[in-house]
Amino acid sequence: MSTIAPPTERECLRCGRIETWDEDRTSWVAATVDGETRRGRPHCVHEWDITGNYNPTGVQ
Ligand SMILES: [Zn+2]
Repeated sequence: MSTIAPPTERECLRCGRIETWDEDRTSWVAATVDGETRRGRPHCVHEWDITGNYNPTGVQ
């Protein structure tokens, strides 16, 4: 058995923006990696490496 947890981090495949899920604000916020905020390109149409429709059952 493995615990299924919703994704808490995502990365844009186009510009490298990294966001983490902020539970308090219930929104994605840009992550800071090695002291650098990974905002990516300002006009990027972000393509995330996770699906936006999280399916807790794991069934596609
Ligand atoms: Zn992007």
